[in-house]
Amino acid sequence: MRNDELLALDRAHVWHPYGPMPGRTDPLVVASASGVRLRLAEPAEGRDELIDGMSSWWSAIHGYNHPVLNEAVKGQLDRMSHVMFGGLTHEPAVRLAARLVEITPEPLRHVFLSDSGSVAVEVAVKMCLQHWRSVGRPGKQRLLTWRGGYHGDTWQPMSVCDPQGGMHELWSGVLQRQVFVDAPPVAYEESYAELLRSEIARHADELAAVIVEPVVQGAGGMRFHDPAYLKVLREACDEHDVLLVFDEIATGFGRTGTLFAADQAGVSPDVMCVGKALTGGYLSMAATLCTSRVADGISQGEVPVLAHGPTFMGNPLASAVALASIDLLLSRDWAVDVKRIEAGLREGLAPVAGLPGVKDVRVCGAIGVVQLDHAIDMAAATRAAVGAGVWLRPFRDLIYTMPPYVTGDEDLARICAGVHAAAAAG
Ligand SMILES: *Cc1c(COP(=O)(O)O)cnc(C)c1O
Repeated sequence: MRNDELLALDRAHVWHPYGPMPGRTDPLVVASASGVRLRLAEPAEGRDELIDGMSSWWSAIHGYNHPVLNEAVKGQLDRMSHVMFGGLTHEPAVRLAARLVEITPEPLRHVFLSDSGSVAVEVAVKMCLQHWRSVGRPGKQRLLTWRGGYHGDTWQPMSVCDPQGGMHELWSGVLQRQVFVDAPPVAYEESYAELLRSEIARHADELAAVIVEPVVQGAGGMRFHDPAYLKVLREACDEHDVLLVFDEIATGFGRTGTLFAADQAGVSPDVMCVGKALTGGYLSMAATLCTSRVADGISQGEVPVLAHGPTFMGNPLASAVALASIDLLLSRDWAVDVKRIEAGLREGLAPVAGLPGVKDVRVCGAIGVVQLDHAIDMAAATRAAVGAGVWLRPFRDLIYTMPPYVTGDEDLARICAGVHAAAAAG
């Protein structure tokens, strides 16, 4: 198909994330992707190839078209691409679940496989609410979270997204009303820890769970916080009979420097969600893990089952590639790569702090963030990055990058130059 024909059809018929209909700006057409490079169907700003600074939203940690991951999908494809999971099971899903239990914090034992991060969060919320219902405390059905979070776009996840970013005003009267506390400060402050404790105590009778993104808040604002707050949450939740949910959909599989962000605090949640990098960016899959305590609670109930069952639950292709991606990650010195990228981002982004209009530059693991003091001109910033040969997707006042772990030093320097160009233009 010719590029202009494709774009005309795209504009007329295809929704894109958070986009208007019909589309108002033409997306770039990607013809193929390999390693850390996206190959464009037609050159843009003089570039026919872009280095991917986004890992396709945290997911393509090993880069594109990886021979090991390709092989995992092809091998599974010849056996079966899918069978229903009700009444049937298969080796890829069982091995994946066992593997997830093995690598996640200790008391997490049971795994619910679903098809996207938002659904994994829905399942987490359902698990918590049903646990309390089943053990005779049905009044515990609200969630507490801190501002600045992002947990997905379906209804329960939206209700715990940052009220501004989550468009709570648009949905007032429709969204569940949850308990919000201020966003966590970067460094540990005892007064904020006290606020967490007192709010959990005050609402304990109506709280099913506290849900947060540990260490790094992603799409809600790209904010970082001291892992010590996770310990405060764990202790307060234990004291007041509230479950603790960690949404590690963005932070999981090494991104922050530890395999899971929870590891930085030595804290285990009762329920944990993973997604995004789970399949190395190959297929849509997510998982919700819980402890035996949560599962046993549900099993005691009047309805002793977890009433959730997606059509494509445990999809064999996705399970097979997820297993291969985890094995590939653990077989590499991934922590060294993440450290190397962290150092490269620190060095490469430091000069950006001197640009006019730049409020903050921060790095955590293989995540680099530039925050402006104004709303970004997204089209101009994106164009400038593309001109520098880099794919970035800025939003609000933020230009950020989380490169694939396999990004080499030269490409990493170019990503930093792309961020610099975007910050200067936006
Ligand atoms: C992306 C994300 C989600 C939602 O995942 P989808 O697969 O887009 O539904 C939930 N929580 C966090 C922390 C995320 O980064």
